[in-house]
Amino acid sequence: MKQSFFLVPTMREVPADADVVSHQLMLRAGMIRQVAAGIYTYLPLARRVIRKIESIVREELDQTGAQEITMPTLHPAELWQESGRWEKYGDELMRLTDRHNRQFALGPTHEEVITSLIRDSINSYKKLPLNVYQIQSKFRDERRPRFGLLRGREFIMKDAYSFHTGGESLDEMYKVMYDAYSRIFRRAGLNVRPVIADSGAIGGKDTHEFMALADVGEDTIAYSDQSDYAANIEMAAVKVNYTRPDEPLLERELVDTGDAKTIRAVAERLSVQEEKIIKSLLVSIDDEWALILLRGDHELNDIKLKHALGASDIRLATEEEVLEVIGTEVGTIGPIDVKGMKVIADHGIKSIVNGVCGANESNKHFVHVNEGRDFTVDTYADLRFIQEGDPSPDGKGTIRFAQGIEVGQVFKLGTVYSEKLGATFLDENGKSQPMLMGCYGIGVSRMVAAVIEQHHDEDGIVWPTSVAPFDVHVLALNVKKEEQMKLADSVYHSLQQAGLDVLLDDRPERAGVKFKDADLIGLPLRVAVGKRADEGYVEVKVRKTGEVIEVHADELVPTIQAKLQQLAE
Ligand code: ATP
Ligand code: MG
Repeated sequence: MKQSFFLVPTMREVPADADVVSHQLMLRAGMIRQVAAGIYTYLPLARRVIRKIESIVREELDQTGAQEITMPTLHPAELWQESGRWEKYGDELMRLTDRHNRQFALGPTHEEVITSLIRDSINSYKKLPLNVYQIQSKFRDERRPRFGLLRGREFIMKDAYSFHTGGESLDEMYKVMYDAYSRIFRRAGLNVRPVIADSGAIGGKDTHEFMALADVGEDTIAYSDQSDYAANIEMAAVKVNYTRPDEPLLERELVDTGDAKTIRAVAERLSVQEEKIIKSLLVSIDDEWALILLRGDHELNDIKLKHALGASDIRLATEEEVLEVIGTEVGTIGPIDVKGMKVIADHGIKSIVNGVCGANESNKHFVHVNEGRDFTVDTYADLRFIQEGDPSPDGKGTIRFAQGIEVGQVFKLGTVYSEKLGATFLDENGKSQPMLMGCYGIGVSRMVAAVIEQHHDEDGIVWPTSVAPFDVHVLALNVKKEEQMKLADSVYHSLQQAGLDVLLDDRPERAGVKFKDADLIGLPLRVAVGKRADEGYVEVKVRKTGEVIEVHADELVPTIQAKLQQLAE
């Protein structure tokens, strides 16, 4: 490809509206342009990277026996009503109406479409298991589209769906896909950690997310410093055996805490540690009020609360609701003499003796409060976020945190969708049974950004060879010098003939501009054709290491091939 006619509008300035490196570099390197919030055009460089990622995905999935199909982007509302998700998916579902006033959604995921297809085309155990996939644009009206391709409203996803006669077959496929995902991300140059995850809006049970480690990642991973244990912080179980310190119980006292409303302020005012304070939260759980108790130094994990109670809808009461239901302000709620609601406590509460809690009265707290004597707990559960320094739930080592970008997820869905949509099969005994399902997603466009987050330096992108838009960047440093242009052309052709993807910078720009753009675009190898062109010499630079060597044009192809080989290892 000759750069003079190649649509790669590079920019010198860092765009003001881009605050993560991958977004900045993709704009600067002329890879993407925004059309509307979270909606982008992929220019040729980005398109080439996506194509390389897609072929890695296809190669690995085809090898597992998965079959590629293409489902529509437009989904009739009826299908989503059948699964119950027309309502449940909420504002993230992009909805539209056709000329006959029929409602449609732009597909954010395809469980409904695929389950209805399989329901209508497969009815015997003999045709199962089956695994199908597609790569296409998905639409989600994200509340906060941001960080360029990391969180778009229109983005490219690979989604796969498997159908099974039983749990063993699903478990097997899950493992096959898990392994294929590990290979896909490794081949794309991503440092990824699989973590135990929450199944979220899709439903189902067993699930892992694949997290590309990066500081800009929106997910926090809790991992053990001494074992393989890693979980999304949403799911990481806290396994601490709390024991009540052996102290004499003191008499409860009502004290004035003035305008101290936060845990920290109360701790300071009363000169007690935060872990001695009982934090009380009024929460609506499936439309019933409950009081949730946590230690002052712990944070409520609402996903754990949901799971612990098997609830579907959980939200914190507003200030007005707290006033109405408890009769005091948010900062002074407590469990003593609270009536008409369940009291649910995190296990950490068991470690508090002579604690502090809100007195359900403005500006007042109780001190020397003890569970059992002053209030009772209906249910204890693991409700808090794990913290750095906690013991790892597998009993090995201590928990540390890292940030990750979710680039993929594998789910065991079970029969959630097959039951709702009636995807059944006849087993060996002629009995009708719902199919078991798995589903598996990869954020293809998000992967491009994740790769850049992990592979860049202050000058620009440093592409891993497997997904680089081209293998080699040939720079004709001075296009007015005939011998330079001639050698650049011949080098360009011989590299192409050797089967390499080559970008030739033949623009009438200064050498300095070309070097800067080459670093910014970040192809693995750069071949500069300059002053020594008349002797047949060119300069090869390895983008990743900065290594520079002079090579005679006759030796160039094998040199480049060897360097690429080295980089790929
Ligand atoms: P997130 O938690 O980041 O919103 P998700 O768990 O809702 O993602 P899935 O339904 O698991 O996403 O979709 C499969 C994959 O699609 C994700 O692992 C992610 O890589 C990608 N993906 C999801 N939402 C987006 C988005 N808004 N922009 C780009 N990629 C996305
Ligand atoms: Mg996910």
